[in-house]
Amino acid sequence: MTKLPTALIAHGLDEQGMEVTNPATGEVLCRVRTYSEGEIDAAIRAAEVARRDWAGTLAKHRAYALRDWFNLIMAHREELALICTLEAGKPLAESRGELDYAASFVEWFSEESRRAYGETIPSFGPGKDVIVTKEPVGTCAAITPWNFPLTMITRKAAPALAAGCAMVMKPSESTPLCALALEALAHQAGIPADIFRILPSPDAAMVGRIFCTHPTVRKISFTGSTAVGKLLLTQAGNTVKRASMELGGNAPFIVFADADLDAAVEGALVAKYRNAGQACIGLNRLLVEDGVHDEFVERYVARANALVTGEGVDQATVMGPLINDRALQRVEAMTDRARAQGAALACGGNRHNAGAQFYAATVLTGVTQDMDIAQQEIFGPVASVMRFSGEGEALRIANDTNYGLASYLYTRDIGRAWRVMDGLEYGMVALNEGLLGTEVAPFGGVKESGLGREGSRHGMDEYLELKYRLIGGLSS
Ligand code: ADP
Repeated sequence: MTKLPTALIAHGLDEQGMEVTNPATGEVLCRVRTYSEGEIDAAIRAAEVARRDWAGTLAKHRAYALRDWFNLIMAHREELALICTLEAGKPLAESRGELDYAASFVEWFSEESRRAYGETIPSFGPGKDVIVTKEPVGTCAAITPWNFPLTMITRKAAPALAAGCAMVMKPSESTPLCALALEALAHQAGIPADIFRILPSPDAAMVGRIFCTHPTVRKISFTGSTAVGKLLLTQAGNTVKRASMELGGNAPFIVFADADLDAAVEGALVAKYRNAGQACIGLNRLLVEDGVHDEFVERYVARANALVTGEGVDQATVMGPLINDRALQRVEAMTDRARAQGAALACGGNRHNAGAQFYAATVLTGVTQDMDIAQQEIFGPVASVMRFSGEGEALRIANDTNYGLASYLYTRDIGRAWRVMDGLEYGMVALNEGLLGTEVAPFGGVKESGLGREGSRHGMDEYLELKYRLIGGLSS
């Protein structure tokens, strides 16, 4: 049993609190303090008081505080990565990668905090000037999922803090430890305690209701399932809050017959099996063109079969467990249903003997759009291979979904690449690449995959309001 490092999370531990378990072994890692309705209300009120001073600091002051936070995160890289592996199950190499990705948002928004430029607009009348400034939205609240427990915190908190907002957050009940560790480091870096709070709770519905209905909260940011996102949007409507929603996906991964097949196989492996398929931008439908279908499947199945599955703390592991038993049962039922509806099993299709919550890397072929598995977010290590012929059919299949988050295509034909990128109704499209997350580009979806963008300079605007200032009486 690998020991949980507790130095960074000590402030959040409580022997009577909520259990946090290791999904690879089922053992209880620790218990964390939880917050009642009254305590959450008090934290929001305290944030609202503190945010005025924070918004009044120089942008440079906030930039330095975020930079210090970034440096502290990097100085605690191994400790944070281990916490991530223990509570989320992902292999250590992936946790380190996630840590670097999470930290990159803090670094990026420390830089962006000094660039919240407004504009001047040519006047519309004599003796008048028109100026637009950007102002912090105010007190913000966020709810985050367990699949990227470090990044989901920093990608929301860093732009909010950079913009001069306060941020209160409820991390997933499965992964509060990464969030608590990041909170400790932020406070060490000089970000005031009331400005950035992590508030774990086992009662997500209660916290969601308070965040969405509290008159003081001006913005709600959420990453998670589309069903919960819709509920939060409805709840937030009454007080007309700003909202950023990063919801589910149903990513098509299109392999044309002219693609570099070696690169496509590698890209499709990482796009599917990273984090055991538990990623909203993960490959959900693998569309392979007729001419290369059989060869591609043969190579892909050989690679999927060879993925070393086990506990994340073992150096050899490349695929860990699913987050909980409910997730395992869901993936199992989805695979069984696809087979009942006519899909063929090329590999996997069963639980993995590494532990109670492991599912084998699975490839299904002969999947069609009318099967349930083609319309749902799989969120597990199951690849659904579909056959197509030509650009038109590829686009028809790819866009036939209510989701619109990430999409991928592999081709060496430059005209086709451009046409298909144009035609894909998605917030993000990657050509000849299986991974697209970066702090420098806007992450987000269209259709029922969400509202708003995270990362890049656009990520700051989610936490800023425009103020139009008319300066009149200037005629002499
Ligand atoms: P998943 O099933 O992948 O955990 P969810 O959307 O259920 O996805 O969870 C993402 C986050 O949403 C978690 O922090 C969870 O606690 C929270 N959540 C779940 N249900 C609700 C709800 N009714 N109101 C507010 N937050 C919720």
